[in-house]
Amino acid sequence: MTDKTGKVYLIGAGPGDPGLLTIKAKECIENADVVVYDYLASPFLLDYAKKDAQVIYVGKKGGDHTLTQDKINLLLVDKARQGFDIARLKGGDPFVFGRGGEEAQMLLGHGVPYEVIPGVTSAIAAPAYAGIPVTHRDHTSFVSFITGHEDPTKKDTSMQWDVYAKSNATLVFLMGVKNLENIVKNLVEHGKAMDTPVALVRWGTTARQQTVTGTLETIVERVKEAELKSPAIIVIGHVVSLRDELAWFDKRPLFGKRIVITRARAQASDLVSNLTKLGAQCIEIPTIQIAPPKDSGPLKESVNNINNYDWLVFTSVNGVEFFFNTLFDTGKDVRALGHLKIACIGPVTKKRLKEYGIISDILPETYRAESVIDAFSGIDMTNKRVLLPRAKVARTVLPEELTKMGAKVHEVTAYETRLFTSKKEELISLLENNEIDAVTFTSSSTVSNFMSQLEPKDAKLLLKNVVTASIGPITSKTARSLGIEPDIEAEEFTIQGLTDSLLAYYESRQ
Ligand code: SAH
Repeated sequence: MTDKTGKVYLIGAGPGDPGLLTIKAKECIENADVVVYDYLASPFLLDYAKKDAQVIYVGKKGGDHTLTQDKINLLLVDKARQGFDIARLKGGDPFVFGRGGEEAQMLLGHGVPYEVIPGVTSAIAAPAYAGIPVTHRDHTSFVSFITGHEDPTKKDTSMQWDVYAKSNATLVFLMGVKNLENIVKNLVEHGKAMDTPVALVRWGTTARQQTVTGTLETIVERVKEAELKSPAIIVIGHVVSLRDELAWFDKRPLFGKRIVITRARAQASDLVSNLTKLGAQCIEIPTIQIAPPKDSGPLKESVNNINNYDWLVFTSVNGVEFFFNTLFDTGKDVRALGHLKIACIGPVTKKRLKEYGIISDILPETYRAESVIDAFSGIDMTNKRVLLPRAKVARTVLPEELTKMGAKVHEVTAYETRLFTSKKEELISLLENNEIDAVTFTSSSTVSNFMSQLEPKDAKLLLKNVVTASIGPITSKTARSLGIEPDIEAEEFTIQGLTDSLLAYYESRQ
């Protein structure tokens, strides 16, 4: 800490899709000592924060303020005076109904330096993701952003209903869902045509985006029917009719599907990003946790004695990671492996290995131990010393078959997978409320750990309407032994293969 006052960055965090954060905002979050955020800012953005940054949630869900605006102000001033640089994240753009102006004035008053980083406002982005351009030369030449929050009984209102009603502007109301009836009534009373198109877009730009359309005449009823709630943008004007033609976001093949990811969090990102791009809403319920072995001695010893081996065989990305971490920890680098032949099981492991500068000498055709064995069949393994760093509990086919070929196999525990149950309650409640469309299983242990969290007597019922997707035959076999018949089994036993099979499944049902 220094004597200098820290700086506050008033940052627009964008409307929800984490990809809509600006590069400048991202850099700012990465460098901040303190990150202050509220409920409209996507929690994914917090992943950019430094490990030791203080991350403070200040709430604001539909008026239920976790911290009042005054307290937020005090917090910002206080932290800045302690010398911390602060990333103050606000949903959308900080200066569009975000009270960013007031926060800036307050900081100025306290002599705290600040900068403003504009963000993508939901007022434009939510309609855009619903296929509604807020301006269009054939329809309107201007757009208004209006608060929908104003108390309808307020006497000296700043609302100019006659202006809104008579203009051909696109009207974009924020914070207006509760007041929809009133907004509609005022516009109609001031002469706006009943057949003016209207759309409400809830949680725009996120996987749970929901859009309801109608006209000034029908919209109140339709919103009631759809039970659409806050936060939503209300768009009124002829541009809304363009949605029929221009909708894109909610037309993606997995849009609206809520898919559970059971992989360990550290490994989930490729599956999450594949499915998210296709429109799915991924719910991460990790059932396993990858951890260093309880006794790391054997791995260290093998690394120290690496000269005694002829082959190094990897069966997973984790094996690669933990092996190299140990190698580097002992002060060695990849040159220590120069004398070895190296094999790995599948394209992802191969890719990870390549990142360490190593090309696998053999690569099996498919991604199971059996294929690795085939790949070895043309090689003389007699008396070859093989180091096999892998999970504590792993299938025995590979070491057994290599031994049959005459190799001397040394299996060493490079990591352990542990049962992870902290999301058990969330999982059960989602299943009970029918809020899950599909569950993905990426290994036998994800299936068994997943099932171990459900009461056996309830499991069948809870999973009745849930599509189960398995990465390959071995995972499926484990699933069957636990009473689940997978609806989907990947044709190629990789994350990409699993993604493709899920996609094919849903496309064939459309
Ligand atoms: N500064 C924000 C607006 C804050 S006011 C911005 O520029 O987007 C809060 C209102 O914003 C909500 O009531 C809702 O009307 C709107 N809003 C914010 N995020 C939204 C989203 N993802 N989808 C739809 N509306 C959203």
